[in-house]
Amino acid sequence: MSITRRHLLQGIAAAGTVIAAGARSVKALAPSGLQQPLPGAPASGPTLLNRNENAYGPSNKVQAVIREAAAASSRYPRGEYDALRKMLAELHKVKPEQIVLGSGSSEILRMSGAAYLGPTRELLVPDPTYPALGNYAEANGIQVVRIPLTQMREHDTDAMLTRVDSSTGLVYICNPNNPTGTLTPRKNVESFIGKLPADVMILIDEAYHHFVSTTSSYRSFLDYPLDDPRVIVARTFSKIYGLAGLRIGYSVSSREVASHLSALRLPDGVTIVSVKAAIAALEDTAYLQMAAKRNANDRQEFMNQVNARMLRAIDSHANFVLLNPLRPVSDVLLHLEKYDVHVAPPIPAMERYIRVSLGAPSEMREFWRVWDLMPAGNMAM
Ligand code: PLP
Repeated sequence: MSITRRHLLQGIAAAGTVIAAGARSVKALAPSGLQQPLPGAPASGPTLLNRNENAYGPSNKVQAVIREAAAASSRYPRGEYDALRKMLAELHKVKPEQIVLGSGSSEILRMSGAAYLGPTRELLVPDPTYPALGNYAEANGIQVVRIPLTQMREHDTDAMLTRVDSSTGLVYICNPNNPTGTLTPRKNVESFIGKLPADVMILIDEAYHHFVSTTSSYRSFLDYPLDDPRVIVARTFSKIYGLAGLRIGYSVSSREVASHLSALRLPDGVTIVSVKAAIAALEDTAYLQMAAKRNANDRQEFMNQVNARMLRAIDSHANFVLLNPLRPVSDVLLHLEKYDVHVAPPIPAMERYIRVSLGAPSEMREFWRVWDLMPAGNMAM
């Protein structure tokens, strides 16, 4: 069963007043300036495990650059756009003209939709997946064809292929996939692309690329590019680099495709501060490596907690995990919201699961503390 956020909040208003009031009074007792919550008390402020952010923030070096760049906030961006493109071009061994920057990779998704979809050009997506592009298409009256993931939660490339026809404009591949955190083997994606008609474009979203643990089945389409002018690869600075709030992402494609996308860009959608922060983030390679290890440890710790409670979760290659609470998801979401713990909204295609973004250790302790307060209730598989 799927429930809306509004229903959740109504439920909380009715059922959670006493507990919420209790939580507030404990918070009010905490001396001001205290960093850690009192033992046994809820963490201060909401626990945000809902948007797959980097709970630790950008690196110290990047934060220093952001502070310094803030002074230029009164200016429209000038040469910054090209400076970051040049740096990304060197990183990915392509020409700067092949890079398009966006206000988050969300803008890359939107530009791709605007460029390659239309009344007679449909979108083909796995289901479930990151919904932004599908939402964009539907809001513009474009047909979206959704193909369920396989039992292994991989893109069902065979089934997707059977739905490709002359009306297919763009195919979306999300690898690792959100919300499952699962991978689709490179060989499947590659052979799928090889069988697509010449006029079908392919958008490969690698937002969670840096969190993938070493595995022989996965290979980025940026690190190991296909020489195929139909492929657009999207990346973001929102996840491992911790810059979600600054809204910056990019795509790599052929020059022709990049210039088509670029024509659809929001003018000055990328700011001086976001570009300077992104450049500093790319330079801070030590942070990148550390953040990947830290996420792998956090993910393992999450699985340990899952196992200790005999719950079930899907093995993830990202900074979030799909958890089967073995009880009604609506009850779990209501309970968590009552304690100001926020996880992703219900996922219609995977109604037995909740998606939990990995937070910092104190946030995860809060998550499990609140979890353990949950009444036993009905168990549901
Ligand atoms: N792609 C995927 C798979 C995501 O999960 C997200 C955000 O969570 C995005 C793209 C958009 O990220 P942003 O616009 O912050 O770059």
